[in-house]
Amino acid sequence: MELLQSLLNKIYDTQIYACQNYFRFTIFSFLIFWVILPHQLAHFRIQPRTKTKTKVILQEIGFSFSAFLVIGVINWFFDLVIPDDRYGLFYDNYYNEISTYGWIYFVLSVFLMLVFDDTYFYWMHRLLHHPKLYYKVHKIHHYSVDPNPFTTYSFHPLETAILFFGYRLVPSIIPVHHLAVNIWLLLTLLNSVVIHLGYEIYPQWFTKSPLTNWKTPSTHHNMHHEKFKGNYGLIFTWWDKMMGTEFPNYQAKLEAVQHKKIGLKNNK
Ligand SMILES: [Zn+2]
Ligand SMILES: [Zn+2]
Repeated sequence: MELLQSLLNKIYDTQIYACQNYFRFTIFSFLIFWVILPHQLAHFRIQPRTKTKTKVILQEIGFSFSAFLVIGVINWFFDLVIPDDRYGLFYDNYYNEISTYGWIYFVLSVFLMLVFDDTYFYWMHRLLHHPKLYYKVHKIHHYSVDPNPFTTYSFHPLETAILFFGYRLVPSIIPVHHLAVNIWLLLTLLNSVVIHLGYEIYPQWFTKSPLTNWKTPSTHHNMHHEKFKGNYGLIFTWWDKMMGTEFPNYQAKLEAVQHKKIGLKNNK
C-alpha cells in the first residue's frame, strides 16, 4: 500500500506539469488548425486530403496520456533503486550559477542538447522501424498517416521508455544549467508538436536559407508519416542527408506545399 502511494505521488509530482504543458500545446494547436480554422488555413495543409478518423485521434490522446504515466513509473523506479540521487540516474552534470561557464556556453549547451537529442532520436527511430519492433511497438505512432498534434506523444509504452532514456541521457553528456534543460525541453516539445501539425508553417525563406535549411520543417516529418520509410529526423535534416534516408522528392513536395498548390479538397 505504501509502495502504491509512493508510485502515485511520484507520477503526480513529476508528470503533472509536463502533462499539462503537453495538452496545453496540443489542444490549442488542434483547436486552431483542425477545428476552428481548417478552411481559412487550408492553403497551409501538407496532405491534400485528411483521412484521420476521430477514433484514431481519441486513441492518440489515450496513448499520449499513458506516456506520462509510463515516465512517472520509470521515475519512481529510479528513485527506489537510487534514493539519494535527487535528479535521477544521469543527472550528475548540473551546475547552479550561469556565470560558472558563461552565457555563450549556456546558449551553446541548449544547441548541443538539441543536437544530441536529434542524434539519439534518429538512430532509435531507425531501430524502431526494424520489422521486429515496428509492428509490435512503433506502429502505434504511425496510426495517423496524416498526423495531428495529438500524434506527438502517441507511443507504445516501450517506445516511451526508449525515448525517455534519451531525455535522461542527453543532459548527462555535457555540464548543464537547469534553465538550459528547461529551454531544451520546451523547444523539443514545441518542435514535436509543430512537425505533427499537418500544416506547414515554416516560410520558404526559412527552409531555403543556408543558415536555417538544416531545421526540419513540418513537411519533413509529415512525409515520414505518409510514406513510412524515410525522413527519420526529428529536429535537423543532417542525419537523413548523411545516411541517404531523405525522400528524393522531399524538396519538391516542400516547395509545392509552400506554393500553396495543395488545398484541403475534402473540406471544400
Ligand atoms: Zn516512424
Ligand atoms: Zn511522428
